[in-house]
Amino acid sequence: MSIAKNLAALRAQVPEGVQIVAVSKFHPVEALREAYDAGQRVFGENRVQELLVKAGQLPDDVQWHMIGHLQTNKVRALVPRVTMIESVDSLRLLQLIGREACSVRKEVDVLLQLHVAQEETKTGFSVEELLATLVTGEIEAVKGVRIRGLMAMASNTDDAAQVEREFQTVADTFTTIREEFYPDTEVFNVLSMGMSHDWPLAVRHGATHIRVGSSIFGNREY
Ligand SMILES: *Cc1c(COP(=O)(O)O)cnc(C)c1O
Repeated sequence: MSIAKNLAALRAQVPEGVQIVAVSKFHPVEALREAYDAGQRVFGENRVQELLVKAGQLPDDVQWHMIGHLQTNKVRALVPRVTMIESVDSLRLLQLIGREACSVRKEVDVLLQLHVAQEETKTGFSVEELLATLVTGEIEAVKGVRIRGLMAMASNTDDAAQVEREFQTVADTFTTIREEFYPDTEVFNVLSMGMSHDWPLAVRHGATHIRVGSSIFGNREY
């Protein structure tokens, strides 16, 4: 199957209004161009260096989403090129992104990453930690960023009920945060969850963005 055909098949299944973030990590720029030619404009990468190299080789109307753990020493290079940073997993990182964004007179869209999966390896705020941090007002105080919503990954398991519980926890947290902290704005409206194998469950639980790699580009060779 070609990338264009994979994309067409995916688009036929995904409900209207749900944004597909094409996760192109580890795939060569030719693969991204094929997706671009098939109309895809939103791409997700998990390493800063790779995102920057690819951004230099694709047209300017591509929207680049950073979806991987972001080291603080890479923030400065990333901020000018990125559209949305989905993987903000600490207040300190958010503050640094804000500072760099202000210094290049930009506002960066960000998502706060929630940790709901069983695996310890996955990063993000716990629900309690995120709510407690929001209450202090320190997140709202950061200039140069627009808090657009939440990002999360479910556990890597065949237990669909477990995955659905995790997605529902994220959705409930999203609603709570919007009602308590962003009631008068349309800006907090992004819920990014679901990957190739579990996106239908994520959509059922309210995902507005799904991050799909292997179903579009094939398996990755690390
Ligand atoms: C790699 C990755 C994806 C896409 O995974 P696939 O299984 O290839 O669809 C989604 N989200 C994050 C954070 C990733 O690192």
